[in-house]
Amino acid sequence: MIDTSLKNYGEDVFSEKEIRLFLPKETAAKLIATMKDGKPVDPSIADAVAHGMKEWALSKGATHFTHWFQPLTGGTAEKHDAFLEPAGVAIAVQKFSGKNLIGGETDASSFPSGGLRSTFEARGYTAWDPTSPAFIKRHENGATLCIPTVFCAYTGDALDMKTPLLRSIQAVSRATERLMEKFGRRKSHVTITLGAEQEYFLIDRSFYLKRPDLLQTGRTVFGAAPAKHQQLDDHYFGAIRPRILKFMTEVEDELWKLGIPAKTRHNEVAPAQFELAPMFEDLNLAVDHNMLIMEVLRKKAEENNLVCLLHEKPFEGVNGSGKHCNWSIAYGGKNLLSPGDNPRDNAIFLTFISAIIRAIDLHADILRMSTAGAGNDHRLGANEAPPAIISIFLGDELSAVMREIETGVKSSSTKGRGAKDSGLKIGVDTLPPLPRDTTDRNRTSPFAFTGNKFEFRAPGSSQNCAASQMVLNTIVAESIDAICDKLEVLVDQNGGEFNEELQKLLQRLIKKHKRVLFSGDGYGEDWPKEAAKRGLPNLKNTLEAISPLENQVNRDLFAKYGVLSASELASRHEIAAEDYESRILIEGKVTLEIARSMIRPVVADEFSRLATAIGQAKKDGLKVGLRGLGALSQKLGAGLDDLHVKCEKLEKALVDGKGEKSSKSVRIISAMEDLRRTVDRLELLVDDNRWPLPKYRQMLFIY
Ligand code: ADP
Ligand code: MG
Repeated sequence: MIDTSLKNYGEDVFSEKEIRLFLPKETAAKLIATMKDGKPVDPSIADAVAHGMKEWALSKGATHFTHWFQPLTGGTAEKHDAFLEPAGVAIAVQKFSGKNLIGGETDASSFPSGGLRSTFEARGYTAWDPTSPAFIKRHENGATLCIPTVFCAYTGDALDMKTPLLRSIQAVSRATERLMEKFGRRKSHVTITLGAEQEYFLIDRSFYLKRPDLLQTGRTVFGAAPAKHQQLDDHYFGAIRPRILKFMTEVEDELWKLGIPAKTRHNEVAPAQFELAPMFEDLNLAVDHNMLIMEVLRKKAEENNLVCLLHEKPFEGVNGSGKHCNWSIAYGGKNLLSPGDNPRDNAIFLTFISAIIRAIDLHADILRMSTAGAGNDHRLGANEAPPAIISIFLGDELSAVMREIETGVKSSSTKGRGAKDSGLKIGVDTLPPLPRDTTDRNRTSPFAFTGNKFEFRAPGSSQNCAASQMVLNTIVAESIDAICDKLEVLVDQNGGEFNEELQKLLQRLIKKHKRVLFSGDGYGEDWPKEAAKRGLPNLKNTLEAISPLENQVNRDLFAKYGVLSASELASRHEIAAEDYESRILIEGKVTLEIARSMIRPVVADEFSRLATAIGQAKKDGLKVGLRGLGALSQKLGAGLDDLHVKCEKLEKALVDGKGEKSSKSVRIISAMEDLRRTVDRLELLVDDNRWPLPKYRQMLFIY
């Protein structure tokens, strides 16, 4: 039964309320303090917490517990242990200790480590992350207690996504506290917030099972464009079909029980494409929640005889799927990217905006890196928005304000604010209103200011948000620190007036880094040329995009903030390259297999039937039909020859070629594309009843 009243919201979470119910008062208070400000757990409370957590889990029907972590595969991992302890012959009790809660040891040899873990030391360690609450995952015959953890090697090197994310949150929090102190603000808690909008496709399971490409790679490597796809814009925000709505409500029901604030649901641009957006939360929690959202989407789809495709580009010719990451910083619960209504708050707002502009300009390459992957290559750098060039969209109003600061001259769009003609005075003037609704018009920008947060649109639908958020936090921390360093020299050492020095500093920053600001069409043909003139990087594919991981500046940056050591960074490069090459190789092999063992026999058979028919018609001396049969057999025959040639080319690309100019993956991709063109042409020639693969017009429309 679906709970529509929200009475069961969060019932599967070991929340503050449950903690107070199941733990002794003092233990509960200590645990809640740790959860709220991320202080290390007091080991003396571990046993008491474990006991209470177990009692709670048992009350929910749990039989097992697991440390739940995010290895570098991009997914999540769990290994279940029963709460079982033999207490004599044929007697067992349910047990779960503080030791079980705090840490775990597991064989890490089958998780990617990128050379960090020597083979003789294959153990991996999981450690409890008390800042993300434990939760229950249900299945038909019971439930499992899941404890969010980090995952590292014997040496302490991170083997997961969460560890560097937590480190980066600490880095940007510290930098924020430092800057706020310069503004004379009392020390307060910094929260980095994330609202991740998740796009996905749904297709009927029966089609999926007949497509080896979808089964093995998550995308269709063949498929002619249907006459109608998204040209009429009739899917976006359209009425949601009953079957899909049933699925969506079941997803929401489960997410709400997990305390995940799923808020918005709608049809997306492409046919069969949808979106789910939760309310924003504390970044670490929001990342865990997004991982769970993807899992629940897949599971509920299966229960409804659907399949949820999270690949960035399951279908050629229609929009791909992204994961817009809405990011902001709050101080003492107040959003710092929301312009305030007094001059002091404005100064803080403008300083953070300037710090972010500087960060993105200086580190666009490593931010682009964080979204690299075989699937996302079909969006970024291909013919789709957003482009691979990282730029910032500020909206008209904020752009005008930044221009005023830069030039010291009042712009026409902010006239009427005051009588004088000089530009905005930081710490003295208030800002013109920055309407939230109009700031979001430019949908082609990868990094857009949307009124009170930045929306990073480059991450792919299947990716773990931790990757991009970790980079964003780190580069912004560095930028805030750089501003603090300068202010310390100008004000503290040289005795300058704070507001004046800040004004001059921001003016210099904007001048220097404004090349990263772009409000035009990021999808347009001119932008890559213009961006090249401005010196902005345009890293078009995964191998190019991950190369910044090897740059010394980035090694220094990530080491300085303790987010990733040089060896951890290098390991991530190795893993990303390997993942990419493996995926391309798998795609190439599946493409070749389908072409040879599914497509070719059908085309050959059809061709031979035609040839027989032509022979018979000639023998019988028929006067009509020969022209049509002849033309078709010409086309099919040519297609069959072409198919042969393209298959040979792909087969050659799949083996390591000596002395080839381009890399193996480049050759495979090009051979796959060539073969696809041939097969997609044949799809429109061959008898519809005999075509072995479900077609786009079926998969995208029949559900
Ligand atoms: P859209 O981008 O589709 O117009 P919205 O503007 O409603 O959608 O919000 C998108 C996401 O941004 C939601 O997940 C929302 O919770 C999130 N969001 C709103 N404010 C913040 C914030 N301060 N920090 C992070 N995310 C936020
Ligand atoms: Mg959005």
